[in-house]
Amino acid sequence: MFGNGCHSKARILFHEDITGKEITRNLLKAVQKLPNVHILEYVTMLDLIEQDNTCFGILAKDKNDEYLTIEADNTILASGGIGGLYEHSTNYPHLTGDAIAIALRHNIKLENPDYVQIHPTSLYTNKPGRSFLISESVRGEGAKLYGKDGKRFANEVLPRDLMTAEIKKQMAKDNMPYVWLDMTVLGKDVILNHFPHIYEKCLEEGFDVTKQWIPIVPAQHYYMGGIHVDKYSKTTMNNLYAVGETSCNGVHGANRLASNSLLEGLVFAKRAVNKIHDDENAQHKKYDIDFAQLANNVQQNIDREKIILAQEYKKAIFNEMDKVRSAR
Ligand SMILES: Cc1cc2nc3c(=O)[nH]c(=O)nc-3n(C[C@H](O)[C@H](O)[C@H](O)COP(=O)(O)OP(=O)(O)OC[C@H]3O[C@@H](n4cnc5c(N)ncnc54)[C@H](O)[C@@H]3O)c2cc1C
Repeated sequence: MFGNGCHSKARILFHEDITGKEITRNLLKAVQKLPNVHILEYVTMLDLIEQDNTCFGILAKDKNDEYLTIEADNTILASGGIGGLYEHSTNYPHLTGDAIAIALRHNIKLENPDYVQIHPTSLYTNKPGRSFLISESVRGEGAKLYGKDGKRFANEVLPRDLMTAEIKKQMAKDNMPYVWLDMTVLGKDVILNHFPHIYEKCLEEGFDVTKQWIPIVPAQHYYMGGIHVDKYSKTTMNNLYAVGETSCNGVHGANRLASNSLLEGLVFAKRAVNKIHDDENAQHKKYDIDFAQLANNVQQNIDREKIILAQEYKKAIFNEMDKVRSAR
């Protein structure tokens, strides 16, 4: 994604086997130092405050369940994917696609809302909660997949959708809720140096990957669809942007390759900020609105409809997915 003229080279940012955590930790540290940024923790966005397809901010709830409104010239949605809507996902349960449901509520255009990426290899467990992801770089290094009979059944470096399909086929054939992944073939040095966190996590779950195979199963991993945005991350609503997994800018297509969503998030977040900055310098639009009244209306709607995000919004997202799928 970082390129230079016709001699462009693709680069992947990585740190051991915890790239996302490292990028987030460093970004957060940098943001916390900015004097013009105010971070509100444990605040949940409930709805947009909008009039005539122009966004003026959001309605949210704090940790004491009190409403609060945030007025803004420009708003950027960045509430991640939809993993929390699924029983098995590598994402945190609180990532429930709220921005997607809110977009549906306001007729903001979505792109491929039915495209959901399943990661072929999460550690099988019957415990509830987030599934632990076994990175595909493990298979890139040479780890093998086996069925119940201990035999290989597929090429281990297939793209995610094809790999998932092969694993599901084998699970059905074996009548088992998982297949086996063999990391022992990588050798102890490679495992400890390249995959220390996978090693430790599996050990916590009772598996020593240097000595034994582990059970793995496909799990929801990434939302390929999302809020439609242009190349500056702008949605179809005025003054409203969307970045990261909640947006769909079309760069990934239907099936994201590994390791490039964080780069996409960084690049398109920067584009959004530059665009907002340029527009603010170019024009000072004045809107004739009564923000307090608008916000009050939105709050009354939310109260009246008794919207419980986890239920009503989930229903709205799955309905939209079904609608688009059956129209394909
Ligand atoms: C296990 C795992 C490993 C991964 N590894 C890689 C990798 O190596 N390389 C790579 O490129 N990608 C990787 N990905 C994908 C990548 O981490 C995500 O795509 C990326 O984190 C999405 O960033 P985001 O900022 O859009 O959303 P998130 O990082 O999910 O952040 C969304 C934020 O919004 C908040 N939020 C949600 N709803 C609301 C609401 N209603 N109100 C207020 N706040 C809300 C959440 O609390 C959260 O803080 C991985 C994903 C997983 C699950």
